[in-house]
Amino acid sequence: MAKRKIALFGGTFDPIHLGHTTVAADAAKHIGAEKIIFIPAKRSPLKGFFPKASDNDRFAMIALAIADNKNFQVSDYELKKPEPSYTLDTVRQFQADCGSETSIYWLIGADSIDELPLWYGIVELIEECNLSTMYRAGCEPPDFARFTAIWGSERVEKLQRNVIQTPLIAMSSTEIRNRLAAGRDVTNMLHPPVADYIRKRGLYQSKIKP
Ligand code: ATP
Repeated sequence: MAKRKIALFGGTFDPIHLGHTTVAADAAKHIGAEKIIFIPAKRSPLKGFFPKASDNDRFAMIALAIADNKNFQVSDYELKKPEPSYTLDTVRQFQADCGSETSIYWLIGADSIDELPLWYGIVELIEECNLSTMYRAGCEPPDFARFTAIWGSERVEKLQRNVIQTPLIAMSSTEIRNRLAAGRDVTNMLHPPVADYIRKRGLYQSKIKP
């Protein structure tokens, strides 16, 4: 019997935007995943810069953005842990919860490839789940050939097989935060309930008073 497939989508989602949900939906279709679970990462105290939304706000915005998609879920698994968590630990936890009859996919955008060698337990991660790389506007098509010397050809072939040619959506949370801080329009990049939430809570406003 074919295994169930679940895709996990980690990130800071600060805030979640239409690029995230569009490529996730496309990836789910491509994989044949029965659900996608968005897993916001804890805000790292080391990386913090202002303005930046709290863990609770980022979780709430994801819940609003995915409310109409029955295949999307959000998990507070990483937010509830005392320390920022490693992807490998999260994948292992979900694999243990779902059981061995489920294949776990972990989605990343093509912009994350260069830093992959720095990820904790990257070799185990490549082996234990399907690390699926999505195309991203402004990035080269994902190509792992340059990692053959460090990871070996089998792992590199697996990464390459799991590349998904998702639609190119030129959007980033950084651009959205910058636009909001400058008082510019972002309505075509956000789910309307997320835009409302940001407005009501005054998130991402510039701290500099005129
Ligand atoms: P920031 O600008 O703050 O770095 P971001 O828009 O890249 O944020 P993240 O929350 O860091 O968003 O992204 C989570 C994951 O989604 C990452 O793997 C990232 O590569 C991927 N991703 C984000 N936006 C897109 C997009 N427009 N197309 C494809 N992948 C994306």
